Amino acid sequence: MKNFDVVIVGAGAAGLFCAGVAGQQGLSVLLIDHSDKVAEKIRISGGGRCNFTNLDTGPANFLSDNPRFCRSALSGYTPRDFLALMQRHQIPFHEKHKGQLFCDRSAEDIIQMLLAECDAGGVTRWHSCHIKNIAFLGSRPLDTCLSSYEISTDHGIVQSRAIVIATGGLSIPKIGATDFGYRIAKQFNLPVITPRPALVPLTFDADAWAPFAQLSGLSLPVQIETGSKKTHIAFNEDLLFTHRGLSGPGVLQISSFWQEGTPIRLNLAPQQNIAEQLNQAKATSRKLIANELASVVPSRLADTWVAQGAALGHNWQRPVNEASDKALTVLAERLSRWEITPTGTEGYKKAEVTAGGVDTKALSSQTMESRQPGLYFIGEVVDVTGWLGGYNFQWAWASGFACAKGLAAALKPVGTPV
Ligand SMILES: Cc1cc2nc3c(=O)[nH]c(=O)nc-3n(C[C@H](O)[C@H](O)[C@H](O)COP(=O)(O)OP(=O)(O)OC[C@H]3O[C@@H](n4cnc5c(N)ncnc54)[C@H](O)[C@@H]3O)c2cc1C
Repeated sequence: MKNFDVVIVGAGAAGLFCAGVAGQQGLSVLLIDHSDKVAEKIRISGGGRCNFTNLDTGPANFLSDNPRFCRSALSGYTPRDFLALMQRHQIPFHEKHKGQLFCDRSAEDIIQMLLAECDAGGVTRWHSCHIKNIAFLGSRPLDTCLSSYEISTDHGIVQSRAIVIATGGLSIPKIGATDFGYRIAKQFNLPVITPRPALVPLTFDADAWAPFAQLSGLSLPVQIETGSKKTHIAFNEDLLFTHRGLSGPGVLQISSFWQEGTPIRLNLAPQQNIAEQLNQAKATSRKLIANELASVVPSRLADTWVAQGAALGHNWQRPVNEASDKALTVLAERLSRWEITPTGTEGYKKAEVTAGGVDTKALSSQTMESRQPGLYFIGEVVDVTGWLGGYNFQWAWASGFACAKGLAAALKPVGTPV
């Protein structure tokens, strides 16, 4: 039987990074993944270029039942720290939008960097390797050399002093997502905040959506908001119409906050005062309303919008100078404050992340160790979910780093410098 200081389950962003740091702290590390290819999510992220961090990362960019939990890890390992690592590996990158950093070449650069860091730490990697069972051998102090866990796998049985669960969330099952992390949490009586798809396209009732389905493929900058008072949140980002509903960065952002049964509100021309523009046009123009609108929103959208008038008791398919003030006001209002209630989301098949996860109440914010001694959780499996824009990877790096440092402090014999 083989013995390791620590077994890390899940060779995604958090697991690979944590393994490299822990190995380089002098710990013997076994990294296990059930897929034959590691880090598939890094590979497909950011359109293949991986939006690997965001320069403006702070706790406000994360959702969690305990919004303060992520603070310590985020300040212990910052976007600048990750940039320094990228620079050591001479990986070129650029800022695209709002502090979001992407690889110039491909996400593969990040994967190769993380694998090189694992090699530098002497990390043993087993994949594809399936875990059959994890057994706790008894409560012993971690700084003794005795094993605390026995892990049965299809590569054999191993013992370790600590286990790190880095198996991510439920999104994109076809590239290896499983509920393993939540099952391990339950096995050790740790609470889990009910997981749900986040950063996900929103869907609508097919009949209600029929007039808008023809806009599929149309993208435009909008202001999008949901909630009220304390739960109110708004984003200024692009929107994309799809056959079944709405997608694009703005909708993905709002989806993480949207509560089932509640509406979202959209301003489809956030830089314009449409009411004023239509009223001015009424005095000077004989163009159709749709043609006037086409100067402020895409013409496909303008055509679809005026066609809705009949159902609302207005004739918007007429020259602007023949429309009543009220008809123009209602039209402007419907464009600048379009309220619609999604019926659901595209689910884990299309979600970029899973919100919810292992309840932070059961974890140390300094080390990610759970109240089950020697059992740690990092990355997306934890109830910390970033906004769109590189925040989820920064959480993977930061939580992985906090955990590796915590492991080194807990597992090194007394007197060894950390
Ligand atoms: C399409 C897409 C694009 C994204 N783009 C970005 C982006 O540009 N920027 C950003 O910040 N975030 C992005 N994300 C989110 C980001 O990828 C995740 O938040 C991040 O990968 C989470 O890291 P993790 O290590 O916790 O989990 P993962 O990266 O999901 O890794 C989990 C690992 O655990 C393994 N595993 C699962 N179950 C088991 C099991 N039972 N036994 C053994 N191994 C198991 C999996 O095979 C996987 O390798 C994107 C996500 C998607 C789906």
